[in-house]
Amino acid sequence: MSDKWHPRTKAVHAGTRRSQYGEVSEAIFLTQGFVYDSAEHAEARFLESGPDEFIYARYGNPTIAMFEERIAALEGAEDAFATASGMAAVSGALTAMLKAGDRVVAARALFGSCLYVLEDFLTRFGVNVTFVDGTDLGAWADAITPDTDAVFFESVSNPTLQVVDIEGVSKLAHAHGALVVVDNVFATPVYSRAIEQGADVVIYSATKHIDGQGRALGGVILGTRDFIRGTVEPYMKHTGGSMSPFTAWIMLKGLETMSLRVRAQTATTLTIAEALEGHAGLNAVLYPGLPNHPQHALTQRQMGAGGTVLSLDVKGGKTAAFAFLNAIEVGLISNNLGDAKTILTHPATTTHQRLPQDQKDTLGITDGLIRISVGLEDADDLLADVKQALERAR
Ligand SMILES: *Cc1c(COP(=O)(O)O)cnc(C)c1O
Repeated sequence: MSDKWHPRTKAVHAGTRRSQYGEVSEAIFLTQGFVYDSAEHAEARFLESGPDEFIYARYGNPTIAMFEERIAALEGAEDAFATASGMAAVSGALTAMLKAGDRVVAARALFGSCLYVLEDFLTRFGVNVTFVDGTDLGAWADAITPDTDAVFFESVSNPTLQVVDIEGVSKLAHAHGALVVVDNVFATPVYSRAIEQGADVVIYSATKHIDGQGRALGGVILGTRDFIRGTVEPYMKHTGGSMSPFTAWIMLKGLETMSLRVRAQTATTLTIAEALEGHAGLNAVLYPGLPNHPQHALTQRQMGAGGTVLSLDVKGGKTAAFAFLNAIEVGLISNNLGDAKTILTHPATTTHQRLPQDQKDTLGITDGLIRISVGLEDADDLLADVKQALERAR
């Protein structure tokens, strides 16, 4: 592989390892163990296993290594560790790097499970966590003190689609020696240069756009070789959150088509967002790709496009939002995102049900809010479907 290749070329070829059979499509090495030539060889492997030497699939496996190398090449990261799910990546990266007494500053607008890890789990082990409005650089500047060890945020927040300035927050964090950990799921590896923009650690739920077809759970942690092999790997391999080889194969094949899928889904999302702006049945259309979005300029600079998810604030609260969802014919009522199938979610009663009302209010998770993850269906069919459902909801 050449470092000069563009991301789309790397997404198809980077990290490939061929067996003696010269297969075109990457092999699934469904093996947890590896055979040694001799007892001495086994002893030597356990003393020091190199990048091409495997001892146990929880530590590493050729199919998993292909996925790790391919996504690291795409992201411009030195290395990657594949995990069992996106949450294994989030909790693994944070737990591996933090200890009692450490201080984390995080954006308040987070995926429900990320919020649980920071607010309920890490605090039990003596980590101090402060939450800020992620879109307010002044709030980050006030909260990041010299004793801050890490900052954490979703570069595009779920479900209200606020965009956080990776470069701006990274400068503030690095001035105090804090590590910047970015959950980059909504940005996708297609629109992301998070490491170039200052992030130290980037996390994806591969369950979303990387698989892109709703089949398997997976995740990945990206960073420097030192951080991945020195900090993340010992924690993950001993605590058991590694990816399975079969999942790694699904994700590897997903990477090959990801750019085409995500760009097509994004184009459709923009079409729908533009067509629905000002609709009489809506209080608001939230989409970072629309010029009226509060962080539109930042979105263009940071991602170059608005991504594959938009949110609608339907007039008439929960009753109208439910009527709208129940009238949808093409999309599905579910809670994954980044899927080839369009998926609609009512966050207030599902993914963010657990949040107290005052937090929902702060984050803008209203009773009328619907998150739409736009799929690969025909844009005209999707738009007609959303419009007829809005009419029926009124
Ligand atoms: C889905 C998601 C996760 C968790 O990923 P899983 O693969 O479901 O564990 C984390 N962060 C964000 C922003 C997500 O959308």
